Parts: sequence; C-alpha cells; structure tokens
Amino acid sequence: MNKSLPRVLISREQIAHRVDKLGRQITADFQGEEIVILCILNGAFVFCSDLIKKIQLPLKVEFISLSSYGSGTDSKEEVICEWDCKLSLRDRNVVIVEDIVDSGLTIKYLLQMIHSRGAKSVKVAALLFKPSRNRYPVSIDYLGFEIPDQFVVGHGLDHAQKYRELPYIGIIE
Ligand code: 5GP
Repeated sequence: MNKSLPRVLISREQIAHRVDKLGRQITADFQGEEIVILCILNGAFVFCSDLIKKIQLPLKVEFISLSSYGSGTDSKEEVICEWDCKLSLRDRNVVIVEDIVDSGLTIKYLLQMIHSRGAKSVKVAALLFKPSRNRYPVSIDYLGFEIPDQFVVGHGLDHAQKYRELPYIGIIE
C-alpha cells in the first residue's frame, strides 16, 4: 500500500451502500413530484453525481458555489456566494447537496437564501457530518455518515485542491 495516501475512514463500498439508501429515501419522500438538486461546489460534485443516479424522480441539477473555507483546515465565520444558480427556485422542491457539514454555517446561510427565494420545500442531503464541531444547528434530512473531528479528504473533498479523486473518505496522517 502507498503510505503517502490518506488512511481509509469510509470505504468506497460503504459510500455506495449508503448513497443507494439515500437515493431510495429521496425517491420515496417526493413521489409524484419534481425536485431540484442544488449541488454545492466544489466538494459535493462527486457525492451529487452518485446520488442523482439513485433517485427515480424527474429532477433538475443546479450548482452553487459558496465559500466559508480557505485552503486551511478551519472554518471562517463568513459565507461568500461565488457562483449562484440561474434557475428560479420559487415553488420548487429543493434538495441541497453538500459534502460535509462542519460548523453548519454554510448550510444555515444557504437554507435562509433558498427559503427567501420562495421554494416550496427545502431539504438537506450531506455525505458527512461532524457533530462535535456543529455550532449552527441545522437539520440534515439525508445524512451519509457522522464522523469524528478530523479533517477528511476524498470522494470530492480536497485539501488545498488535492485528493478529490480518491474513491474513499480518508484522513491525512
Ligand atoms: P461549515 O460551514 O459547515 O463549517 O463548513 C462546510 C464546508 O467546510 C464544507 O463544504 C467543506 O468545504 C469544508 N470542510 C469542513 N470540514 C472539512 C473536512 O474535514 N475536509 C474538507 N476537505 N473540507 C471540510
């Protein structure tokens, strides 16, 4: 094994199994309705592309880029919208797709933003959640895994733009 690779925390098989379940759950919850998947760039793009393949509903995919993080390993207090979605979200069922909820600041900001645009419903799907770091309580409707307070990479998540391509969630030693 290559020692320079991050240590496996959650394997690709565990991710696939869990994402399959989340897709079924979303499908069951929105029977007969159309949904808008709002993918938060950049980190959620891998989770999002896996998840939509497991949802059996008519859906649209939109992207938004928010930044509450630099290249370091701790959250800033501020959220900046760097790229906004173009679709009107009025009267839509929106499912926000996030890679990881840490302090909860990003999701709290986005929930307020989407509600203020008149969405019919807003749900949150997150691959990972660090409960010990949560400072802005938000309810995650579709959660992959709770993880300990460690900086993780892989499956779309980066450290200074590296490791997004790893097929598992790993910890840099
Ligand atoms: P929050 O606003 O919840 O504090 O932070 C959410 C964002 O912080 C995530 O979208 C992600 O970009 C970044 N983040 C938080 N924890 C980690 C982590 O362990 N690894 C990586 N790669 N990013 C993280």
